[in-house]
Amino acid sequence: MSETSAASNCIFCSIVDGRAPAHTVYEDERILVFMDLFPAHEGHALIIPKRHGENLFDVDPDDLEAVMRASVRLGEAQKHVFSPDGIAVMQLNGAAAGQTVFHYHMHLIPRLKGEPFGVHGKKQGDSRVLAAQAARLAAAFTLRA
Ligand code: 5GP
Ligand code: ZN
Repeated sequence: MSETSAASNCIFCSIVDGRAPAHTVYEDERILVFMDLFPAHEGHALIIPKRHGENLFDVDPDDLEAVMRASVRLGEAQKHVFSPDGIAVMQLNGAAAGQTVFHYHMHLIPRLKGEPFGVHGKKQGDSRVLAAQAARLAAAFTLRA
């Protein structure tokens, strides 16, 4: 296991360590950006710190800053690729708030006018579709560095 991740049975630490697959948009020494496996809307992506922390109150402030900076770039990339009417930035802390994966993550969800709102999609995304979306976002993300 790498020095930056900690929890052996955490799915997001497994993704960071390459023990589980993900459709990656961007990564650097602090953060990883990848497609949500159950998208609430086309283009739904997550940003995580590589170092494990359960929630907002448990994450290194420099990692939080890196996540926040990346959220602007990712949102710009989503606007470029998906032309949404808006982008929801969501982050849930604790089961009572709806958190289901206990490794801090920020959701960026492109939104269209009039669509019912939700953070969690019901259907697993098609792997080829998610891969293609990740590639398009990755190219746009780089442009916005
Ligand atoms: P939370 O409810 O904790 O804010 O959101 C967890 C998110 O992680 C959900 O949107 C869910 O679809 C996503 N998710 C859960 N397991 C995996 C996984 O193995 N891979 C990816 N890419 N996303 C996941
Ligand atoms: Zn973790």
